[in-house]
Amino acid sequence: MSRVAIVTGGGRGIGAATARKLAADGLAVAVVDLDETTAGETADAIKQAGGTSIAVGADVSDSAQVTAAVERVAAELGPPTVLVNNAGVLRDNLLFKMSDDDWETVMGVHLRGAFLFSRTVQKHMVDAGWGRIVSLSSTSALGNRGQANYATAKAGLQGFTKTLAIELGRYGVTANAVAPGFIATDMTQATAARVGVDWDDFVKNAVSQIPVGRAGRPEDVANTVSFLVSEGAGFVSGQVIYVAGGPRA
Ligand code: NAP
Repeated sequence: MSRVAIVTGGGRGIGAATARKLAADGLAVAVVDLDETTAGETADAIKQAGGTSIAVGADVSDSAQVTAAVERVAAELGPPTVLVNNAGVLRDNLLFKMSDDDWETVMGVHLRGAFLFSRTVQKHMVDAGWGRIVSLSSTSALGNRGQANYATAKAGLQGFTKTLAIELGRYGVTANAVAPGFIATDMTQATAARVGVDWDDFVKNAVSQIPVGRAGRPEDVANTVSFLVSEGAGFVSGQVIYVAGGPRA
């Protein structure tokens, strides 16, 4: 029987590419997204390619919705033993202009979301004696102007990951973080729009600072997640892998 994976924020960008890659690897994939329609588009693409997938609409920061989502996945696909905490939002602002809501929203989606999903799914992993948790951090964890909220959340996910690795290792569960640099997605396009820079110029400027000389693609991150989820990665745990075309973006 296929292993069952949950990818949060799988409707678009990195999450959608990761869901497609894990399905191509042979996993059954539950695509969770705030918007069930976009999740459905990813799930349909997976099914058209011959894979197994369902779409689940849920807000990762809402405890009751997370519980219901995991119960639905377990009932329809089987117990989930792979979790990719990918859902994310930006509310960038310089500290003096950052509102309470900018702070709470980012903490809610990235940190509370990863906490709620990991806490709910770990039971299935412990029961199975096997599991993989991968959370999306970012090079912004190292500090980034205008992102006090996001940098804090992404650094927090690294501490969260290392702690899960220590607590869950004895049950055959690994926990790792992937920290992308500049990846061309709706999220980075929204940043370009917010700062009023033409997208092509924004990409050109980012690429000028990336050692491998190109922008990241969602598939670059998906391939790294695929390795961490694989059977062969069972002795890799509590790590942060930067996927940034260099040591950091
Ligand atoms: P994206 O294109 O904006 O996609 C984010 C996805 O998360 C969307 O499908 C969105 O749903 C979903 N989402 C947002 N809030 C949610 C919630 N409360 N509950 C459930 N789903 C929610 O972003 P991306 O660029 O692919 O980024 C994916 C992850 O990688 C994020 O954690 C991000 O912080 C991280 N990352 C990205 C980059 C980059 O350069 N792109 C770099 C480093 C790290 P809707 O479509 O319904 O809004």
